[in-house]
Amino acid sequence: MKEMIFATGNAGKVREIQEILAGLGITIKSMKEAGIKADIVEDGTTYEENSLIKARELVRLTGLPAIADDSGIEIKAMDWGPGIYSARYLGEDTSYDIKNPIILEKLKGKTGDERAARYVCAAALCLPDGREFTTRAVFDGEIAYEAKGSNGFGYDPIFYIPSFGKTTAEMSPEEKNEISHRGKAFRQLREIIEKEVY
Ligand code: IMP
Repeated sequence: MKEMIFATGNAGKVREIQEILAGLGITIKSMKEAGIKADIVEDGTTYEENSLIKARELVRLTGLPAIADDSGIEIKAMDWGPGIYSARYLGEDTSYDIKNPIILEKLKGKTGDERAARYVCAAALCLPDGREFTTRAVFDGEIAYEAKGSNGFGYDPIFYIPSFGKTTAEMSPEEKNEISHRGKAFRQLREIIEKEVY
């Protein structure tokens, strides 16, 4: 069984990615499981750069293939921000119970296309031989009129998918992964892993 390190401290994300990459004969380990404590500074200017910074550092530390992702929400009425600054928007430690109502307030009075939003995710694969790959996927939606649902995380309670008639916080994890930016970016990465790695 081959090993690969995934640049995250989030156990939920590891499970999700293990499912997407199942059947390839690869054990995906989180940084914690691999015994790595690194505070990687994400100072890139694009999702791709940030995901590569994380994966590259893990290859350097472990000598194993590494994968990473970087994602964010882009809101039309906020000049398509906060984008790569989504986690840091209004403060990294500020609860989304505070952040989400502030966004709803900002969009007060806006209707239709003025509420357009999208999640974006870049996924990176870095190999010990120096080869690097990235994928990118977008998940289109809009900002809801009110927060709903308790699944998911972050901006999910206010990210509304018209064709489903619900927010991503009202979807099951499986339902969301099927159509999400992260799900799509990692399914594209799976194809690269199948072709390029083993
Ligand atoms: P990352 O973990 O550095 O990629 O930061 C991504 C940030 O973007 C998260 O902390 C959230 O604020 C936001 N975000 C990205 N994807 C999602 C999602 O699927 N649901 C909710 N928020 C998301």
